[in-house]
Amino acid sequence: MALFEPAEDQITADTIVVGGGIAGMTTAIETAEIGKDVILIEKTPSLGGRVAAMHQYFPKMCPPTCGIEINYKRIRPNPHIRVLTLTEIESVSGEPGAFEVTLKLSPRFVNEKCTACGDCEKVCEIERDNDFNYDLDKTKAIYLPHLMAYPMRHVIDPAYVGDERMKKCVDACQYGAIELDMQPRTITAKVGAIVWATGWRPYDAAKIDNLGFGQIKNVITNVIMERLSAVTGPTQGKILRPSDQKEPTRIGFVQCAGSRDENHLPYCSTICCMASMKQATYIREQYPDAEIYLFYIDVRTPGRWEDYYVTKQNDEKFHFYRGKVAKITEGTDGNVILEAENTLTGQITKTEVDLAILATGMVPNNVEAPPPLETVLDDFGFIAPDGDKGIVGAGVANRPLDVSASIQDATGAALRAINIAGRR
Ligand SMILES: Cc1cc2nc3c(=O)[nH]c(=O)nc-3n(C[C@H](O)[C@H](O)[C@H](O)COP(=O)(O)OP(=O)(O)OC[C@H]3O[C@@H](n4cnc5c(N)ncnc54)[C@H](O)[C@@H]3O)c2cc1C
Repeated sequence: MALFEPAEDQITADTIVVGGGIAGMTTAIETAEIGKDVILIEKTPSLGGRVAAMHQYFPKMCPPTCGIEINYKRIRPNPHIRVLTLTEIESVSGEPGAFEVTLKLSPRFVNEKCTACGDCEKVCEIERDNDFNYDLDKTKAIYLPHLMAYPMRHVIDPAYVGDERMKKCVDACQYGAIELDMQPRTITAKVGAIVWATGWRPYDAAKIDNLGFGQIKNVITNVIMERLSAVTGPTQGKILRPSDQKEPTRIGFVQCAGSRDENHLPYCSTICCMASMKQATYIREQYPDAEIYLFYIDVRTPGRWEDYYVTKQNDEKFHFYRGKVAKITEGTDGNVILEAENTLTGQITKTEVDLAILATGMVPNNVEAPPPLETVLDDFGFIAPDGDKGIVGAGVANRPLDVSASIQDATGAALRAINIAGRR
């Protein structure tokens, strides 16, 4: 069944999974593959979550297509999974084993006849900021969420649906797929358990006053770096510095940007050291002679990741600098100056680079949109084990995790939810 556009106003399942990132997809698949019915809801127009926006992911350095497509292949034919995109939970009542969940379905304005041919996009005259590329470029008002979208179907930005110019898109669609008068809907789902896999957002780097993000053009964040390196990104994968599209020859990674800091995120997001070293690999592939600096408090590459760290230590143009960057200022010609105290030598230094990348941490989406009922959150907004309340966390909703740990966590969440649902 997979993609689901319910005709009825009430649906049932053993488990509802909230969030269609790698964790939510995994929980849904693991639940459905043993024959339990699951509803997977995602608030954006496509499954994939943050992983879809990576250029490559460690440790294998494969593009996200490999992992995500495997999940789609398992979701598509499975009669026990029903996927609802553009859907959010409005309210929840009941108890473990018997919840009633009200779901709000927002309109896509494009129906299942869409073949993603793109004829509508070609004639569309309206542009909007491309949030998938962190607003560094534009999409049309009718657009494909990303190249690995599921469903592979266009969507219209609701801000423009009433614009007269959208009628051109309707006329250009030979399949009759565009419905500008689609309306929101509310339906209810009766389920035994709820899995909360709503993931994370990047910490807002503009809040870190001393690091210049938002004021100095050539200071970017690690999530932006993923898009700058991706062929579907704003520079078609060529790493260029934003102010003048120059090829950078000196790049500085600023670890713990806002992390392990009582004024921002007191915790370690666990993946940032690996993410920066991964991104250094993107740089090395394009610029074999670039000088790369990594400013750190301590490098955290536990377990099998240590090998990865060692390969960077063996790169003579990769300079590890033990010291937290205290201040970033703008130099001449768009350059960026990183001021730090070397904690090994006690020296205060200024390092001039073309581009600085802030390794910002992960903030759980629970902070802004907490799970319903009395789910317990810890001091940072991650889901604390909730005893017996029936809402099970999965992936980064629980704690900062990489992809493979998110998958393991989500598999455990599937089992726990089956157990809770079985109480009916
Ligand atoms: C810069 C950077 C690079 C990284 N690189 C790697 C890497 O190379 N390798 C690796 O293993 N890990 C990497 N990670 C970590 C990786 O991104 C996470 O492990 C992964 O995203 C966790 O998946 P998730 O499903 O828990 O969350 P997410 O990917 O955030 O997915 C959550 C989903 O839930 C949806 N959602 C949110 N709220 C709601 C709601 N209320 N209702 C419905 N849906 C909702 C979201 O739209 C999203 O689709 C990186 C992280 C960063 C910051």
